[in-house]
Amino acid sequence: MPILLTFDVEDWFQVENFKEYISYDSWPQRELRVEKNTYSLLDLLDETASRRADGKPVQATFFVLGWVAERCPVLVEEIARRGHEVASHGYWHQLCYEQSPADLREDLLRSKELLAEITGTEVVGYRAPSFSINDAVLQAIRDTGYLYDSSYNSYEGHGRYGSLTLPANQQCSDPLYTYPGPFYEIPVSNLHLGEKIVPWGGGGYFRLLPSLLHRAGVQRILRQHDSFTFYMHPWEIDPGQPRVKEANASFRFHHYINLRSARKKLVTLISAFSEQQFVSCEEFVKHKGNSDGRQTKFQVVRATSE
Ligand SMILES: [Zn+2]
Repeated sequence: MPILLTFDVEDWFQVENFKEYISYDSWPQRELRVEKNTYSLLDLLDETASRRADGKPVQATFFVLGWVAERCPVLVEEIARRGHEVASHGYWHQLCYEQSPADLREDLLRSKELLAEITGTEVVGYRAPSFSINDAVLQAIRDTGYLYDSSYNSYEGHGRYGSLTLPANQQCSDPLYTYPGPFYEIPVSNLHLGEKIVPWGGGGYFRLLPSLLHRAGVQRILRQHDSFTFYMHPWEIDPGQPRVKEANASFRFHHYINLRSARKKLVTLISAFSEQQFVSCEEFVKHKGNSDGRQTKFQVVRATSE
């Protein structure tokens, strides 16, 4: 049963909740901390892999923001060199469904091309900022040459998460949706308790929940859905990041809760599931997706982490 660890590589000043307090113009003057934090995550993945009995790598997917990639190309190279997948988180971190079709297309292409240029490999995956997906956005992602998207979060209690029309015969709780093309959606995992959907895939909710409780939920998700898709951001393991004091109390709570313990919690999560395989989204799509069509053309050539 595969576990898909995914990281949205953006910095503390780029998150949606702080948009109204931090202008795009001010980004270049902000303290860039994403590089150090992402290296810390890469080291964490190497360390947890080295403790595995089967010696298998702990492979993850890094959805890198184009703006970050442009400033930290060596980091992007390093993510690929250590055997992980580099995918796109767009260039400007703007909500997809709020952009004009032309702007969205430009953002999707610009980030994809930039990352491909840095890594020398085709970029096939995309995650929308703040899970801002809808059917038209999904179509735009497909039309710009991506093989899969991972922007659907079925939790409805968060105002910004988007929604999708599922392909025929597919359930919201399925770990992978297959659209004609083929094209794929890898939804972020949530816990389904009867009719209720509880956010369980990462972010502030992961930092808030005690490790043991979270683990029990992940076990249940694995039993029910055969895989678990998790997301996190490099700034979530950075208790020293500058505080945005102007933001409202709820945003600050969600952003700053348990930053100090998050890194350790991630180690605990990975160690608790040392029997499972940790694979990139691309690998998951290749193995789980239909054997016909486009994905068979992708040859994953990666350097080993040694
Ligand atoms: Zn993001």
